[in-house]
Amino acid sequence: MNVGQLVGNASVKQRLAAEIDAGRFPHALLIEGAPGSGRRTLAGIVARAAVCRGVGDKPCGACAACVKTVHPDITLLGGDGEALTVDTIRRLRDEAFVLPNEAPYRVMILAEAQTMTPQAQNALLKILEEPPAHVLFILTCNNRTALLETIRSRCVCLTLTAVPWEEAAPVLAERLPQMAEEERKRAHSLFGGYIGQVIDGVSDGTFRQVLELVPTMATAIIALSELPLLQATARLEKDKPLSLGVLAGLALVFRDALTVQYGGQMMLSTAPDEARQLAAVLPGERLMALLRQTETLQTALQRNMNNTLFVTRFCACLRQAAGR
Ligand SMILES: [Zn+2]
Repeated sequence: MNVGQLVGNASVKQRLAAEIDAGRFPHALLIEGAPGSGRRTLAGIVARAAVCRGVGDKPCGACAACVKTVHPDITLLGGDGEALTVDTIRRLRDEAFVLPNEAPYRVMILAEAQTMTPQAQNALLKILEEPPAHVLFILTCNNRTALLETIRSRCVCLTLTAVPWEEAAPVLAERLPQMAEEERKRAHSLFGGYIGQVIDGVSDGTFRQVLELVPTMATAIIALSELPLLQATARLEKDKPLSLGVLAGLALVFRDALTVQYGGQMMLSTAPDEARQLAAVLPGERLMALLRQTETLQTALQRNMNNTLFVTRFCACLRQAAGR
């Protein structure tokens, strides 16, 4: 199998290639991972491999099936910000029973499967219990625990992880040639090693805004000045990706400050000067509390905490954790 397009994740690629090269396409594949981890890329590779008519490693990238922009036997649903409803899944079921147009398989990709309503999940389960032989389902999700256990148990589950800098560097250099390597490394660290997030964050300006906001906020925490903190958080109100970026940036700063206190070498931080100042003015347990609060907020926001509520809690949490 030709999985070169997916960066990193060697064990996932090996496992999948072993199955598919042996001619065993899983009837249902569940690809789990954070946004930007390559779920959609991998789903696309498997779908193309299933419809490819070339010889040798699939997808060959050259046959008539591979070069089609839109393949009639590949259906993509979800991932547009809307929940997947029971009506959508019923339409999918009707389509699933129709034989493929030209390929050996009909591939149905359900992106962001965690947005399926409970009724939609139950409807999908009915198809997964007795799937037509020619159908491959590929589900992507951010967290498999959001799906019914009965769905998960019928899928081959793969988890995509962050890509370490050494593996990410060549791809980021190719995709973001306008940036200096140092900046790419900083963006890689800020977006947790998820290549899709790095590319999106740099392209849409989130990265630049984070680099602007994080030092301001760190300075405000050091000085205990409420106004700059409130002004900075106000900019987060309508922007969830920016909020997540700022939280990640602050977490790096607090981690760096702790490292400085332990006499270690600082990482490539979003605000190295402020990290040194924090290390000088706050005791270790306060820095730990700040780090924990930031991580708790990150998790809450990733799990769809309301952004307005988040902004309200954000300042209070930071102030309280700083204990000042
Ligand atoms: Zn092909």
